[in-house]
Amino acid sequence: MRILIVEDEQALALLISDRLKKERYTVDISNDGEEGLYNALSGIYDLIILDIMLPRVDGIEILKELRKEDHDVKVIMLTAKAELDDRLLGFANGANDYVPKPFHIDELIARVNAQLNISRAVDETLKYGDLVLNYPSSEIGSDISGESIGVNNKEFQLLEFLMKNPDRILSREIIYDRIWGMESDASSNNLEAYMSFVRKKLKLIGSNVSIKTVRNMGYKLVKEE
Ligand code: CA
Repeated sequence: MRILIVEDEQALALLISDRLKKERYTVDISNDGEEGLYNALSGIYDLIILDIMLPRVDGIEILKELRKEDHDVKVIMLTAKAELDDRLLGFANGANDYVPKPFHIDELIARVNAQLNISRAVDETLKYGDLVLNYPSSEIGSDISGESIGVNNKEFQLLEFLMKNPDRILSREIIYDRIWGMESDASSNNLEAYMSFVRKKLKLIGSNVSIKTVRNMGYKLVKEE
């Protein structure tokens, strides 16, 4: 899952980002409100951590624009101004949660997980057909063959995205934006390469699940009945 942090305190943004990455989230950072607004409207995020006091465009303005565009992305507001007025303003404009600064990083992570309905203690796997994606061990396995194999970070993210959107054609652009987004070192060749790695691994474990290429449209995760 992909998270955007819009926060002008760079050290704080990095602290949050490092911790979220350990929790297996893909994270982008915007350090000012203008870039934050642009990125927030991209539609590629599951959740946005949004500071209120920002250069150029403030967090409340970003939230208003987001909700005007009818984006249903989850938003957690951060602010040093812990007055009740700000809290009400945030919720009134469609924030999902609000964390006053200073906060403990564990509390923020717990709120992020709660918004994304992730309870890692009970929900440690994702399933589709016989295919099981195991979060703690970073492995995929098949319920039918009993075989499993490790996957790297990008393979994991790719499979997670496909398994959350099964039987649906996902365009190359959508997949690319979700998995690589703004990473500057990425080339679109990476997508082809990772697709082929993942397909090989699905074969290796003998899964009934496979990734179909839909000509001129994209990819689709399917299972044999
Ligand atoms: Ca700030």
